[in-house]
Amino acid sequence: MSQATQKIGFVSLGCPKALVDSERILTQLKVEGYEIVPSYGAADAVVVNTCGFIDAAVQESLDAIGEALHENGKVIVTGCLGKRSELIREAYPDVLAITGPQDYASVMNAVHATLPPQRNPLLDIIPDTGIKLTPKHYAYLKISEGCNHRCSFCIIPSMRGDLVSRPIDEVLVEAERLVKGGVKELLVISQDTSAYGVDLKYAERQWRDKSYRTRMTELCEGLSELGVWTRLHYVYPYPHVDEVMQLMADGKLLPYLDIPFQHASPRILKLMKRPGNIDKTLERIRNWRKAVPELTIRSTFIVGFPGETDAEFEELLDFLREAELDRVGAFAYSPVDGAKANELPGAVSEELKEDRLEQFMAVQAEISAAKLQRKIGRTIQVLVDEAGADGAIARSAADAPEIDGVVRIAHGPLQPGQLLKPGQFVDVVVEAADEHDLHARLAG
Ligand code: SF4
Repeated sequence: MSQATQKIGFVSLGCPKALVDSERILTQLKVEGYEIVPSYGAADAVVVNTCGFIDAAVQESLDAIGEALHENGKVIVTGCLGKRSELIREAYPDVLAITGPQDYASVMNAVHATLPPQRNPLLDIIPDTGIKLTPKHYAYLKISEGCNHRCSFCIIPSMRGDLVSRPIDEVLVEAERLVKGGVKELLVISQDTSAYGVDLKYAERQWRDKSYRTRMTELCEGLSELGVWTRLHYVYPYPHVDEVMQLMADGKLLPYLDIPFQHASPRILKLMKRPGNIDKTLERIRNWRKAVPELTIRSTFIVGFPGETDAEFEELLDFLREAELDRVGAFAYSPVDGAKANELPGAVSEELKEDRLEQFMAVQAEISAAKLQRKIGRTIQVLVDEAGADGAIARSAADAPEIDGVVRIAHGPLQPGQLLKPGQFVDVVVEAADEHDLHARLAG
């Protein structure tokens, strides 16, 4: 008599890095014959992958655990918030197990204890690429875990530990598999992409009969062999970032850099204990743009950091106006439990923080909108994310999924054979732009 398949519900919260953890756990569950089901009611147990980065994320994670307990009753918690198990136990003493980030073995042990695996060879057939939560045509490629920095507002190193890089051949083999499985865009993620390989002393490894050092530039060179889009996230402005400009100029790497500057005042950056040197940043941005005129720079900033004076905030606005970044996210400083910055004097009042955030966003909105306006009339290549009968939603080299804008293509009714498909590259002519998005028609 055949046994019923064990069914698992899965809730994935948090950043793209947590998403990659979720994908690994899901792949393992599937390999072991568990079925992943989309509702609490159909599941025999639920795994919740949590985030613990800022207080809002902690609350969201606790709410998700509460909901899963209420709806299903058997809940295993993993992810960043798992590091603060006392917080979870206090709110929900009935959770079955709590494990931390990237602790795949412990999550699986907890699943085995709750629902012993019943291997069924028919269910072991899974694609080589594993389970991906992201659409089939783009995938996050996690190159390392942890971080060697100790930014005073951040508790990630205390949750995830020091930098541990994956050897370059391992990453390139994974990327190769993803591309074979239909991926057209690789999004390189880590806590600090520019530090990749430092912990391994840039170890040299073989891939496709060629030697590569475990290092950011060499990784980009290797990935460029795969002939798909490669986008870099979480890069810090170290000197060797200049090296990838040539790859961008040669069309081997998307002309896109996600650099979380966080502030522009040297004193505040020092208090934040940020890596990199802001002094020459404007000059370097100018040089990058000279080498790669198409370069899109995305960044994030914190306003209202403890001790931030009016003058320092003005310095930040001046930097924004000069740097003319393309995409910017900003947050009002919010203390994270356990972060060193909480001990700094000069807390900025909530009202002033909100006021500065508003001013900041207003300055940047004008810059971003003006930069998009300049694209009108140009022909650009885009990657289709969603397609319908009359139009499609796509992204250009300047748009990372989920965090940036999109390109809306209106093409009117098409013949069945001409319909666009997700994962397809097409050329479009930009016809209009609003604050975030471009509007375009098919070229030719
Ligand atoms: S670089 Fe700073 S903000 Fe980023 S993970 Fe490391 S410590 Fe946190």
